[in-house]
Amino acid sequence: MALVDKVGSAMDTGPGGVVLTSVDALVNWSRGQSLWAFPMGTACCAMELIAASFSKFDFDRLGTFPRPDPRHTDVMILAGTITEKMKPVVKRLYEQMPDPKWVVAMGNCTISGGIFYYDTYSVVRGADEFLPVDVYIAGCPPRPESLQDGIVQLRELVREESISPGRRHERRMLLPRPGDGEHR
Ligand code: SF4
Repeated sequence: MALVDKVGSAMDTGPGGVVLTSVDALVNWSRGQSLWAFPMGTACCAMELIAASFSKFDFDRLGTFPRPDPRHTDVMILAGTITEKMKPVVKRLYEQMPDPKWVVAMGNCTISGGIFYYDTYSVVRGADEFLPVDVYIAGCPPRPESLQDGIVQLRELVREESISPGRRHERRMLLPRPGDGEHR
């Protein structure tokens, strides 16, 4: 999206607020209609994530296709318990995704550690300890329809963003700093 970024910079320094709004609307519409998913199933919630692609639920009609390659995808869908041992690998895969990118946390374990929140030394208590989660989908496990609803919500977030430099970055400033949460 380097070209899009260049257009954003040019518009930002120019007088055309209305033009930028229109370009934003067009870019965000096209981004939102084709959020290709990187499925990151780490435990039982992954079954629901897989089921979402079956013909019964027809995930494809939202323009969201699973791709087993971080370099071709826009949204990481985390589904399942994340352990401390998995964390660096999940983070590395996220970093391999091109910008702009988003994260959906599916299921109680991904959101907060779920049933492993207490008395478990090995489970991460929420993906947002180390990733910028955009949409949370509660449940143990959430149904495929909930995931579809989550993607629709993500589209709304994408619609509010701007190609003007730095705007999305502001939201990410709320993330833990590097090193936070490494040792609990
Ligand atoms: S939220 Fe429930 S279904 Fe999902 S990974 Fe945790 S225990 Fe399994």
